[in-house]
Amino acid sequence: MRIGIDLGGTKIEAIALDRDGAELLRRRVPTPPGDYAGALRAIANLVAFLEAQIGRRGTVGVAAPGAISARTGLLKNSNSTALNGEPLDRDLAAILGRPIRLENDANCFALSEAIDGAAAGAGVVFGVILGTGVGGGLVVGGRIIAGRNAIAGEWGHNPLPWARDDERPGAPCYCGKSGCIETFLSGAGPARDYLARAGRRMSAYEIALAAASGDPHAGDCLSLYRDRLARGLAALINVIDPDAIVLGGGLSNIASIYEGLPALAARHVFSDGVDTPIVRAVHGDSSGVRGAAWLWPAPR
Ligand SMILES: [Zn+2]
Repeated sequence: MRIGIDLGGTKIEAIALDRDGAELLRRRVPTPPGDYAGALRAIANLVAFLEAQIGRRGTVGVAAPGAISARTGLLKNSNSTALNGEPLDRDLAAILGRPIRLENDANCFALSEAIDGAAAGAGVVFGVILGTGVGGGLVVGGRIIAGRNAIAGEWGHNPLPWARDDERPGAPCYCGKSGCIETFLSGAGPARDYLARAGRRMSAYEIALAAASGDPHAGDCLSLYRDRLARGLAALINVIDPDAIVLGGGLSNIASIYEGLPALAARHVFSDGVDTPIVRAVHGDSSGVRGAAWLWPAPR
């Protein structure tokens, strides 16, 4: 049995999968805010609960925001800042009494979609998260490519490619730079555009609803979003040329962002033709926790 844990900013989810990937049991609890020791205890309790209910011991994989620094062995780059600077993988191994595997949550998302999701069967898969942040993960032959500095796939903090004059320098990003892809393609991007055009605050989800009912400002914001997403993906294709790109995160549920997206991307790809599938995640919000479980090979 494989157990996956998705340690998020607001919730911690646990899942138990049998050897074929069928879900045996799932449980979710709120993340204790700003409380590292509390998060460790919550994870230990979730694992104990699943194992007691099912009556078997499992391997444990963990999807976490950020990554373990190869330099310090401590978590870095997490937007759940209480986790930064902590030896999360070692502490969990100690508290659970077994080796654990821990990976960046966007990498786990890409792994889940590559194994039995929207990109099942594709050799090189790039998974994209479009949510409150913008992340990504690269999976080749069913294995996560984490990278020498543990940042492979972090395209969200590259500058927006082929930026126009009115897109420079762009909004400040929490990473310290300005005009990062994340500032345009996270939910804050279209919300900022809509406020500038219409003088009202709406979430990306509300903008999508307004566009569908004919609000021209909302329609413009979504067109701009699609064009920027296409430019971001075109730059990825020029570097990696993956067999499939899978979109996840809250904004990936907006159906209209897929309309004409491959053709828009193709304008910027250095190739005579582009047939890269750009598809929506099959497992949705569950991909992080499923990918975490898949970090371990099949038990014998
Ligand atoms: Zn940034």
